[in-house]
Amino acid sequence: MQYYPHTGWVDRPTHLAAPFQGEHHCDIAVVGGGVGGMLTALRLAEHGRDVALLESDLCGWGASARNAGYLSSAVGSDPRILAKYYRDRFRGLVRFADSAVRFTEDLMDHHSIDCDYEQTGILASAVTPSQLEAVKAGARILIDAGMDSVIVDGRDMGVPDAFLGGIYARIGGIMNPGTFALGIRDAVLASDVTTFEQSRVLDVTDTGNSVTLDTSGGLVHAEKVVLTNNAHANELSITPRWLATPVRVTAIETEQVAPGLLDAAGWTSRTPMVTRHMVMESYRTTARGTIVVTTRKLQTTRGKIDDRQPDQAIVADLVRAFRTRFPTLHDVQPAKAWAGWIGMTPSVLPVAGYASPRVVYNSACNGHGLAQAPYLGSLVADYICGKDMHDDLRAVWRAKPKFAPGLVNSHTIKLAWMADRFTDRRG
Ligand SMILES: Cc1cc2nc3c(=O)[nH]c(=O)nc-3n(C[C@H](O)[C@H](O)[C@H](O)COP(=O)(O)OP(=O)(O)OC[C@H]3O[C@@H](n4cnc5c(N)ncnc54)[C@H](O)[C@@H]3O)c2cc1C
Repeated sequence: MQYYPHTGWVDRPTHLAAPFQGEHHCDIAVVGGGVGGMLTALRLAEHGRDVALLESDLCGWGASARNAGYLSSAVGSDPRILAKYYRDRFRGLVRFADSAVRFTEDLMDHHSIDCDYEQTGILASAVTPSQLEAVKAGARILIDAGMDSVIVDGRDMGVPDAFLGGIYARIGGIMNPGTFALGIRDAVLASDVTTFEQSRVLDVTDTGNSVTLDTSGGLVHAEKVVLTNNAHANELSITPRWLATPVRVTAIETEQVAPGLLDAAGWTSRTPMVTRHMVMESYRTTARGTIVVTTRKLQTTRGKIDDRQPDQAIVADLVRAFRTRFPTLHDVQPAKAWAGWIGMTPSVLPVAGYASPRVVYNSACNGHGLAQAPYLGSLVADYICGKDMHDDLRAVWRAKPKFAPGLVNSHTIKLAWMADRFTDRRG
């Protein structure tokens, strides 16, 4: 088993853009070069703005290259709660998530990015009868709100017996997120965006007339700034308090599995699946003939967010989950593990708004940012370049930079895991 401090999807590029040195003036500076920041910067440049993109490491090398590769139209957490608490914007959130998938599919075509994308749809499945009732209730709410989905029985879906059925999103699919993120990076490096890698922003000050960014290599002065630093949001004092809690998500990948074994396991359709636990599990096949399993047990931190190898106990827990859901694949060995940080908002919904008159935050797409972060980035770019606010942006826009403290901390993470295992046992 190989433990990766970064991602198991792709090798790290050897050529990095030069770090920022000295003093620089631009129209708009974008902080953080994940898929969200890169799309913000690309779109701003398309509008003719002089844009500087500052990335502390390598563009795309954060969560963007480490995720499970689901291009998903999922919305936040439990739809029954969302529909109740966000009644006015719920339909808008569903539409935003749907548009995000289509936008990102177009993006791959537009930049000719070969990332093994397969338009498979995605099954959110129950693994116990009690979960199934809850999933169906949530599914009806989502379908009523316009989600392009259908309620299905697991046995009709060509998935293993452990997956009872639930809601099947007809749009979206799976890809190699590493090649996708690096494909977007290539587009950014070839564009008019002035890109600085290995350039950390240490502080952002809105002076009233402009914004000054204190960086590891000197000062950048911009008319406006967009913050797209995801899990690192709290590290800049200008970020609204409680915007996002850093949460670490772990992934494992198996060795190659013979197609006959997958068929024998009942996974004849190869439909990618997520479970409807409080903290989901995800199972998908890859173009290289392996299975990737993620999430289940999260981590958070009071200390620094860093790149380190995945926690062995969490990896072991993911392996246990895989063995439980796919008993006939008992001889298939896990081969790789990696992990990444995401920013979790209190509502578990994407958010954007003004942190100060000249600084916009556009981050925290939680566990659905592969499609949503690029889409949100481009909508924010359009808006700050003077276009009317798009209805999809309105659905996630916050008029005031005020957030309640989130429920995500080490205790609630542990409790959620225990509740999920209790549900499993009852099932
Ligand atoms: C294991 C795992 C599985 C996941 N699975 C899925 C999935 O299947 N589908 C899905 O939609 N989403 C998934 N996600 C979530 C998804 O990856 C994220 O929502 C998405 O990548 C967010 O993109 P981003 O651009 O906002 O953030 P990131 O990709 O994290 O980019 C933020 C960037 O900001 C940089 N940065 C931070 N601070 C500074 C600073 N001060 N100065 C300069 N640069 C800075 C970082 O280095 C980083 O590159 C998963 C995440 C993980 C970790």
